[in-house]
Amino acid sequence: MKRISIFFLIILSLLFISCGSNEARTFTELSLNTICSITVYTDEDEDLVPGAFALMQELSQMIDMYDPGSELSEVNRAAYGNPVKVSDELFSLIEYAYDITVDTDGAFNIAIGPLVRLWGIGGGDEKRPSDEEIEETLELVDWKDIVIDEQEHSIRFLKEGMLIDLSAVGKGYISEIVASYFRDNGAENAIINLGGNVYALGRHPGGRPWKIGLQNPDSERGGYYSTVECTDEAVVTSGGYERFFIDEDGTVYHHILDSDTGYPSSSDIISSSIISNDATLADMLSTACFVSGSEKAVTIAEYYGVKAVFLTKDGSEIRVGF
Ligand code: ADP
Ligand code: MG
Repeated sequence: MKRISIFFLIILSLLFISCGSNEARTFTELSLNTICSITVYTDEDEDLVPGAFALMQELSQMIDMYDPGSELSEVNRAAYGNPVKVSDELFSLIEYAYDITVDTDGAFNIAIGPLVRLWGIGGGDEKRPSDEEIEETLELVDWKDIVIDEQEHSIRFLKEGMLIDLSAVGKGYISEIVASYFRDNGAENAIINLGGNVYALGRHPGGRPWKIGLQNPDSERGGYYSTVECTDEAVVTSGGYERFFIDEDGTVYHHILDSDTGYPSSSDIISSSIISNDATLADMLSTACFVSGSEKAVTIAEYYGVKAVFLTKDGSEIRVGF
């Protein structure tokens, strides 16, 4: 099967106006398997932004399923049969992701790793698996087969071949920690954009809220289909147009999977954005809502009290919580 292309797009771009002494300076690096950029507005200490990139790298070594040296990979290798003790940070994140998995009935599924690996997502060897392979792999993505021990801070898998995947929460989680790092170092206004997971710290130096553009999923047209204003909030978007491959027969398969069917999700939502001061939650819910479809997605957003913007296949824009 021929892989034609995978596109990494920064799905949200930022509407900047530089003003007076508050000149914008943007730094970009490839990190967390995507393009990351940080924009600061004042003459911050020279080490501040490099320190943020280093912090991102460090955190990625905790949660990256694709890095064999990460703490998560250690769990994934060893948790079948024996409980594996994990750091407090990783334990808290896994617990949070597990709770959201339960609450969204697996629309966001922490246990989806084996299916992601079967489809070759993120590994550079995307392929459409056979129906039999998908059927077999579905046996390994039931989150109820993950045993989380609160006392011991340990994780255990009940089935061989299970894998925890934190890719749909990791960038939101990291953006929030980087935002705290900026605050702790006295930087009040910054934009942290981790491959479309944006954390808008503080306000625009002009005093108004940040204005974040939501990219039109139709990449031929480009541009924004909408904007949102935010202050000290994350804007996280999930969309099938972000990362995908095209089969020999022209079928497009994207990277967000429905763990009920084992196939890329095919709900009526083509772009799902969540706005919240809890960036970790925003990242998980953007994936969950994308998979769930607009009717359930509205209920999910209302339940968690987050703001949301959904774009559906028929071109309607649904706003919740504004
Ligand atoms: P992105 O990482 O492009 O911002 P998401 O946050 O929606 O988009 O995460 C998608 C990634 O999460 C996939 O690449 C895959 O590793 C994993 N994933 C795919 N489907 C799901 C799902 N239903 N629940 C949890 N993680 C998923
Ligand atoms: Mg996500």
